[in-house]
Amino acid sequence: METLYAHYARLLGIDESWRVEAVDLRLEERQVEIRLSHVGSDIFCPECGCSCGLADHAAERRWRHLDTMRFTTELVTRLPRCRCPEHGVKTIVPPWAGKHSRFTLLFEVFAIEVLQACRNVKAAAALLGLSWDAVQTIMDRAVERGMDRREATPIPHIGIDEKSFGKGHDYITVLTDVDGSRVLDVVPERTQAAAEAVLQTLTVEQRQEVRAVAADMLPAYAKAVARQTPNATLVHDKFHVSKYLGTAVDQVRRAENKALQAEGDDRLKGTRQLWLFNKSNLSYRQRRRFAAIRQNGLKTARAWAIKEEFRWFWRHVYSTSAEKFFRRWYAWGVRSRLQPVVKVAKMLKRHLPNLLSYFLYRITNATSEGYNSVIQALKYAARGFRSFKNYRTRILFFCGRINLKPHLPCH
Ligand SMILES: [Zn+2]
Repeated sequence: METLYAHYARLLGIDESWRVEAVDLRLEERQVEIRLSHVGSDIFCPECGCSCGLADHAAERRWRHLDTMRFTTELVTRLPRCRCPEHGVKTIVPPWAGKHSRFTLLFEVFAIEVLQACRNVKAAAALLGLSWDAVQTIMDRAVERGMDRREATPIPHIGIDEKSFGKGHDYITVLTDVDGSRVLDVVPERTQAAAEAVLQTLTVEQRQEVRAVAADMLPAYAKAVARQTPNATLVHDKFHVSKYLGTAVDQVRRAENKALQAEGDDRLKGTRQLWLFNKSNLSYRQRRRFAAIRQNGLKTARAWAIKEEFRWFWRHVYSTSAEKFFRRWYAWGVRSRLQPVVKVAKMLKRHLPNLLSYFLYRITNATSEGYNSVIQALKYAARGFRSFKNYRTRILFFCGRINLKPHLPCH
């Protein structure tokens, strides 16, 4: 039996101040319970770390540990309480677990790896034999740990973007590090106050050092950027520009389709996708239909051509030539007599300086767009999403590039 105890002591990586008192194998429940007792003479105050005298022992506690031989394994002990001259009677923090945790550090590391591998809380919970809440707690702690460890290094290029959240029309604002491809933080809503709040998660020095911010044309974001990152240039995001133009094409199509159908003309019926999708995503049949319909002198085809032409804007090398291009494009768009297109053209002209700043910094929210699928999957995977807080935890856990795992004591 002595060798079994020594085996467990080694597995746990505990030092000589702890002893394995008993190993209780419960074959039927497929459980192992390892009882430990503190035998060391030194105990340290968890507040100040000074060596203190023993006061008494706290009530029995258990920690879920890595399974051994597919048996659920738990550590059980009564932790000593020290009497610190400064902090009074305090329960010590054991070397195998974080404060207040019901899991050993090794188990938390394992749980984090399982979560990272399956990217789905429900699946991870099933694999680990834990409840959804227990997994949520491990994620919360991991994110808190990772965020605490983040250093306030300069982040010259950032992005602010909105994402929808939940079934309704709730939004969140996401702050990203463009060069570092990571989500820095998220806050609820997409107001100016929200954008300022998310920018304020950076230190004052970091905000001073931001050179450029990629963002949508929402006035709320522009105002927040001007106030919080005074040395930064605003760069309007090409993804958003293309979205506005796409919406304009769709509005033209809907109005025209209605008018045509009133005259019994079905040419535009069921063509929504054809105008919105990238050509490479269309089937051969769809492509043939699209080619035919584009040459019918329809308003929708004209709106689409104007939208497509704008893609050339981003390919310029210098802002001077891009500006010349814009003037020509704008003249075309504004004379198109297609109201939704005219509206977007005018909006782009109002924001032209911040479109041209793209050629200085060449930043976009591509990172944040790239997270869309991850964030979307999180939304779907988490039907039981109870709150914004859980959503934030998931986004930072999977997209924050933070150091999530607890440090293990040296073995
Ligand atoms: Zn103390």
